[in-house]
Amino acid sequence: MRSSQKGFRWHFKTLMGNAKSIHLDQQRERRWTALNSLVKGYQSKSIHPSEWAHFPRQLLHSWDGGILPKNFDPSMPDSTSVLVSELSNWYQKVRDDLVEKVRLAYPTFVESPVAPELEFSRAEAALDLAVVVLSCANCLKGTHHLGAALVGWDNILTHICSSSTNPSKWHGTLHWSERGHASALALVELVGKDPRTTTAEDMDKLDARFFCGYCEYTDFTGVRWRKALKWRECLTHVLYCVKPGHDDTPQTWLLLSEEAAQSVKAREKPYPLRNRPTWGCGLCTKHLETPEEYAAVVNHITTEFVSFQSTHHFVPQNPSISRHADDVDTIAELEIGHELVCFPNLFTKYLEKPKLVLQVLPEP
Ligand SMILES: [Zn+2]
Ligand SMILES: [Zn+2]
Ligand SMILES: [Zn+2]
Repeated sequence: MRSSQKGFRWHFKTLMGNAKSIHLDQQRERRWTALNSLVKGYQSKSIHPSEWAHFPRQLLHSWDGGILPKNFDPSMPDSTSVLVSELSNWYQKVRDDLVEKVRLAYPTFVESPVAPELEFSRAEAALDLAVVVLSCANCLKGTHHLGAALVGWDNILTHICSSSTNPSKWHGTLHWSERGHASALALVELVGKDPRTTTAEDMDKLDARFFCGYCEYTDFTGVRWRKALKWRECLTHVLYCVKPGHDDTPQTWLLLSEEAAQSVKAREKPYPLRNRPTWGCGLCTKHLETPEEYAAVVNHITTEFVSFQSTHHFVPQNPSISRHADDVDTIAELEIGHELVCFPNLFTKYLEKPKLVLQVLPEP
């Protein structure tokens, strides 16, 4: 073959390869846009803002997998029902996998008489017990204290749903935490509760304060002090503190008296922290993509809603979401979890656009 023919064939192959690559990229782009629009529409119209933290939007789709099957077509008429059914299967699988881990680590919970009003089976309800503590492998590896000690299904699911399929942002691998469990057991017993039936929510409501028995600090003037911790902070503390004693069983915790706890609470900053952009309006969908600081959300609810409503292009179809306008005049005090919602997860953007992968084309 003459060299000019060879050259022509090489150029022709390269051109064809580039054209195919561009076509594939365009196909992906179109699918991503359609998927983003479907997911965004579903979240804004069908899920109340107080439940958004349990919506795993960054896990739904990536180039190499996700909750939705690879052949999922967001343009099909039944795409929303497929999305709902895939999500439901995913929640069940996550729960089943965790229950199995807990069953292996803490078999006695099977015999525990868990709260009968919980609609889940006994094993599933175990994920709400205060002494069932799970640790996120990614958080333990780094310094993300948020997932070191996860207790209660709400807390666990919120953490997993703040993950993304990007391995560095994956927070869905949870393990039983023996040390966290031992601490929770000690704390629950210290407040006089039954570890077989006390849920994480019970401990949250009790809102007691504790001192770690191993940690005493001295400031530069020689004054000795201890830090008062909430029960969830105690679990994180025991996993991160490197001072000796924290591995011991039973652990040493001190319960503050009611009076001392009240004095501590009066000086604490309200939690969740208000100066972080993790807040949203619970009455409309303004903060679907970008949560704001507490004060900005309060301002939105009390003053700017009317102008926002006229320009907002997501029309909430859930009646409980669209009661905003009527409520503004009647809200006496904004309640967290109702008018105001906190998103304790890490996302800041909507469905994160996966990076385009280099396409290796087969030889023609
Ligand atoms: Zn984590
Ligand atoms: Zn300590
Ligand atoms: Zn609003």
